[in-house]
Amino acid sequence: MPLVSPYDDCRGPWLKGNLHTHTRRSDGRQEPQEVVDRYAAAGWDFLALTDHDICTPPPADDRLIWLSGVEISANGPHMLAIGVDHAYDTAPPRQALIDQVIADGGLCILNHPNWGPEFVHWPQADLEHLLRYNGLEIHNSVVERLEGNASATDRWDRLLSIRHWVWGYATDDLHDLPDGPRSYCAVCTAERTPAAVMAALRCGRFYASTGLDISRIAVAGNVLTVEAPEADTIRFVGRWGVVLDTVHGPAASYEVRARDGFVRAECHGSRLRTAYTQPVRIESA
Ligand SMILES: [Zn+2]
Ligand SMILES: [Zn+2]
Repeated sequence: MPLVSPYDDCRGPWLKGNLHTHTRRSDGRQEPQEVVDRYAAAGWDFLALTDHDICTPPPADDRLIWLSGVEISANGPHMLAIGVDHAYDTAPPRQALIDQVIADGGLCILNHPNWGPEFVHWPQADLEHLLRYNGLEIHNSVVERLEGNASATDRWDRLLSIRHWVWGYATDDLHDLPDGPRSYCAVCTAERTPAAVMAALRCGRFYASTGLDISRIAVAGNVLTVEAPEADTIRFVGRWGVVLDTVHGPAASYEVRARDGFVRAECHGSRLRTAYTQPVRIESA
């Protein structure tokens, strides 16, 4: 019963970065250099500046690995295009735009699904029917101070439960400095290049976090093992959001059963910090 998993025995190095960042070029409050200074000082390894419907060139600064990008915003729900160096005409339907981003070699991430007073920036039916996007934001820091829910693991679990396999990303969506640096994706790669970071973000060899670090994610046989030194509780979540096991401590393993559908781990620590692995699943499930 082999597992389909983006991980083998990932022990790092882990490179962390923010994929969703605004500047004064759109509705952010800071100049690009000020944003860059904050993320570099916080120890982030990569950064994408993703202003609304314009591509902001990164400042010449070699402290960070640069991913170009844009937030496709007008004429529909928002989505990130990462690894592309131009903005898009937003008139076509979202599926056509997803396909353009992917054809351009980019990564397409649907943003803040639960933003807004009705908690529905992206209707669930759209998440289910759209194809070929890479994933969705399962945490978006700026929504913590806006209406709606910054977390969207509920939406993600519903997709995974109908075998719509997409990755979960965490971002700051920074518009002002209190929004971050806080949430990030951490990719497992020894190579400090945009291509290596993009490859890991595309194949799921990363975890998403609101501030807690994972040191190891391993899959051997049908056992998923997670180690997060600062975690006090690790939970394994499966189909339809069922909590399959809860372990108190900084390390835990779970033997995946065929009926679980998929399994992902959540590592919880102090100060509301949580790290989320990507799902692993039974090959036939
Ligand atoms: Zn947005
Ligand atoms: Zn944004």
